[in-house]
Amino acid sequence: MKKLFIKTYGCQMNVYDSDRMSDALAASGYEATTEINDADLVVLNTCHIREKAAEKVYSELGRLRILRQSQEAKGKKMMIGIAGCVAQAEGEEIMRRAPVVDLVFGPQSYHKLPELVGRAANEKVVETDFPAEDKFEHLPKAKKETTIARGLTSFLTVQEGCDKFCSFCVVPYTRGAEVSRPVAQVVAEAQNLVDGGVKEITLLGQNVNAYHGLDEKGNSTGLADLIYRLADIKGLERLRYTTSHPRDMDDALIEAHRDLDMLMPYLHLPVQAGSDKILKAMNRQHTAKEYMDLIDRIRTARPDLALSGDFIVGFPGETEEDFEATMQLVKDVHYAAAYSFKYSTRPGTPGAEMDGQVPEDVKYERLQRLQELLNAQQKEFNDSCVGKTFPVLFEKKGRDEGQIVGRSPYLQPVQVEADLSLIGTIRPVSMYDTGKFSLFGKIVT
Ligand code: SAM
Ligand code: SF4
Repeated sequence: MKKLFIKTYGCQMNVYDSDRMSDALAASGYEATTEINDADLVVLNTCHIREKAAEKVYSELGRLRILRQSQEAKGKKMMIGIAGCVAQAEGEEIMRRAPVVDLVFGPQSYHKLPELVGRAANEKVVETDFPAEDKFEHLPKAKKETTIARGLTSFLTVQEGCDKFCSFCVVPYTRGAEVSRPVAQVVAEAQNLVDGGVKEITLLGQNVNAYHGLDEKGNSTGLADLIYRLADIKGLERLRYTTSHPRDMDDALIEAHRDLDMLMPYLHLPVQAGSDKILKAMNRQHTAKEYMDLIDRIRTARPDLALSGDFIVGFPGETEEDFEATMQLVKDVHYAAAYSFKYSTRPGTPGAEMDGQVPEDVKYERLQRLQELLNAQQKEFNDSCVGKTFPVLFEKKGRDEGQIVGRSPYLQPVQVEADLSLIGTIRPVSMYDTGKFSLFGKIVT
């Protein structure tokens, strides 16, 4: 067997894609390794969402050049491939900046990987087309033993690409137009995961709640109906989905949160900013009030639902007053967790051409203030869990002897003193304390 080492950057969709690449290459005799020095093929599955993410790839390539030289000195060959959104956005440019790279391939060509790797043994290969065929049709199923080794929770991409064109974002350019996988294909993949022991599936999409795959009769199906179809799979215990756009949170999905217990009461619903002027400039297609009204409807339907979000500070034209509107929105919503970023200019997006670019030091200072507030809210949320009882899905051994770790419905790690035989089961756990990143609980018998 040849050895494959994949380093994954960025979002959960890349984590899912890395597993698919690994499955595709298993058929041509590659076995995954976590030891880069053993690798015959190293793939960097890259992220282009912010400038820093893209630059990380080039620094890693500098290190790989040195590693490859030392491997060659020992008579060992190592092929280097670049996948993901940097590959899609920069294509040939990567080969120019880093001649050490043998193969550049975008997210739509992962099913062709065995063939591309074969070609790259003799020539430099760049493959960044958006082919007409459905790559998912051609990607092999994960083998049962591979699924078992990957654990009890899994991602499953149901939708790719985005048609929203937020003015800061590269996704519509790197991942292309919005495409939904057919219902039957998703159900079959979920069944395969459950057959391999998976208990919890997170449905993924750049804009997952815009899902509109065709069912067996050729009817367009929304995310809520897809969730109901998956909920029928015996042995599947929990469902989640991410990332959602506020504009696509329809009534059916809100009702699914009300009616379906296995749909976890935790929702990632990015708003990015709290000022209507900035939301408009970002092309988010909703106002702050519309977002707040939506949150009210969701919380009315499912009162125990907690929210997480994404924020960008320092978008072009953001004044102190606009930023204060973001702070106010955060105070009004109360997030359980959130990701926040300084606006990063992405070439080719409308935001890059806008007047009023905000100086780095101002962005930095605003980000500090926002993160302080978000961290305080996260702590407040975790503290509010003490004294409550939640179902916990136990996933693995804990750090200390006699401890096992699972996840709460809100994705918090929960540490419990219990027997290893409970791994793979869901038990009610009463929370008695919080740590920096986790909760501590006792199983309720
Ligand atoms: N589809 C999701 C949505 O509508 O919110 C977001 C997907 S994007 C991969 C993840 C997050 O990265 C965004 O929510 C945004 O906060 C952040 N992001 C995207 N472009 C950015 C940029 N140019 N600068 C800083 N953060 C950015
Ligand atoms: Fe990017 Fe999300 Fe906006 Fe689509 S909806 S353009 S993925 S931020």
